[in-house]
Amino acid sequence: MSSGSGERGATADGPAGAEGPTDLDGPLDPDGPVDPDGLRRRTAALLAAHPPATTPAADFLRARFDAGLAWIHYPRGLGGLDAPRALQAVVDAELTAAGAPDNNPRRIGIGLGMAAPTILRFGTEEQKRRFLRPLWTGEEVWCQLFSEPGAGSDLAALATRAVREGDTWIVDGQKVWTSSAHQARWGILLARTDPALPKHRGISYFVCDMTDGGVEVRPLRQITGEAEFNEVFLTGVRIPDTCRIGDVGEGWRVARTTLMNERMAIGGTRLPRENARDSAEGRTGMIGVAATAWRERPELRTHDLHQRLLRLWVEAEAARLTGERLRQQLAQGQPGPEGSGMKLAFARLAQEISGWEVEFLAGDGLTYDDWTLRRPDGVDFTARGAGYRYLRAKGNSIEGGTSEVLLNIVAERVLGLPPEPRADKDAAWKDLPR
Ligand SMILES: Cc1cc2nc3c(=O)[nH]c(=O)nc-3n(C[C@H](O)[C@H](O)[C@H](O)COP(=O)(O)OP(=O)(O)OC[C@H]3O[C@@H](n4cnc5c(N)ncnc54)[C@H](O)[C@@H]3O)c2cc1C
Repeated sequence: MSSGSGERGATADGPAGAEGPTDLDGPLDPDGPVDPDGLRRRTAALLAAHPPATTPAADFLRARFDAGLAWIHYPRGLGGLDAPRALQAVVDAELTAAGAPDNNPRRIGIGLGMAAPTILRFGTEEQKRRFLRPLWTGEEVWCQLFSEPGAGSDLAALATRAVREGDTWIVDGQKVWTSSAHQARWGILLARTDPALPKHRGISYFVCDMTDGGVEVRPLRQITGEAEFNEVFLTGVRIPDTCRIGDVGEGWRVARTTLMNERMAIGGTRLPRENARDSAEGRTGMIGVAATAWRERPELRTHDLHQRLLRLWVEAEAARLTGERLRQQLAQGQPGPEGSGMKLAFARLAQEISGWEVEFLAGDGLTYDDWTLRRPDGVDFTARGAGYRYLRAKGNSIEGGTSEVLLNIVAERVLGLPPEPRADKDAAWKDLPR
């Protein structure tokens, strides 16, 4: 996923079949109460009308969205019921027990974790109706076209230009580290619309159609051998003004919502307890893998490694519970800078646990399963070997804002320390040295 702070830190004519929901609450008791019992009744009605055993997964997911049972805290008509987010667990438990399909593995963080909350907050009604349903069902994957070769931590320095021609914007520039761009139907895009304004003020926020002929996606191979991300070249890409999110020049304000949600999406990742299967994510946590290795290889144990594993286990548990608290806090509204602290802790812990595992397994820990260039659907820390985990965890302190930049954010916005000096804040972007 993406970048730091800046410090970083449509009616789009969509494909057939992406039309918005119809008959939203129809047979599912539209006036029923939204409490645990009411939700169970709604879920039972959904399951009766669309038995998972005989309903194609995509049809089931669309029906679930239309019944308001996708993300229940979203508005009615947009996959939700304006219900308390905490009650989502009631729906999820019923559906899991009934063997209903989930939107895994298309549960890609950028769409769900970043694009959706931004569209919900700043999008027009038309944009919400066009984009949110296929985003949630996973039929349309999203990517984040923010970082550039000269704009990562200092994201507001970005140089990709969008020039208006009537009702269309013509976009030229280069993006980099764009996770999932090769799978994406849409990209959230930041582009400079007024170079004469200071860097934070001349930016606008768009939804970019990744099938436009001017979009070229080239894989970038990572230290793991995989190519999760890409460089993306934008040449004369045409974006209708109806695909602008927020006002012209307000892109930085809109992007801040995306970035805060991004840190939550990364930092608030569920870190399941040892040996627990987490039903929402369908996996065990990294600490569980380390503890399993400890049990299976008694010949490798030392007192020091034992002490360190115990400490990491306690930290993983503290991180898991803090993540739960953050998710509850998020349910109350906008995530705060606390998400940055959590993202910092998550990155450090992932690197420490994977480092411990490699050290414990000694020679075996460094062997690597497969260097074939892969283009994975998402990041799965536990599916592959210790060597993969060790290498992939290095990216945790870079993606979504580097740890150094997040420390700055915590220092300024949580601890109230004086901000870094910013000499370029009021100068026109076009006059800044590059
Ligand atoms: C796995 C992965 C996936 C990614 N996916 C995406 C994506 O989908 N979309 C997207 O837009 N981007 C994505 N990114 C990019 C990521 O957001 C950037 O790499 C990140 O913001 C850092 O920017 P940079 O690489 O330009 O480094 P730079 O900003 O050049 O930083 C270089 C070094 O300087 C330090 N530094 C910079 N400024 C400061 C400061 N003010 N104070 C202290 N230290 C500082 C940094 O911490 C870092 O150590 C991804 C990155 C990774 C690793």
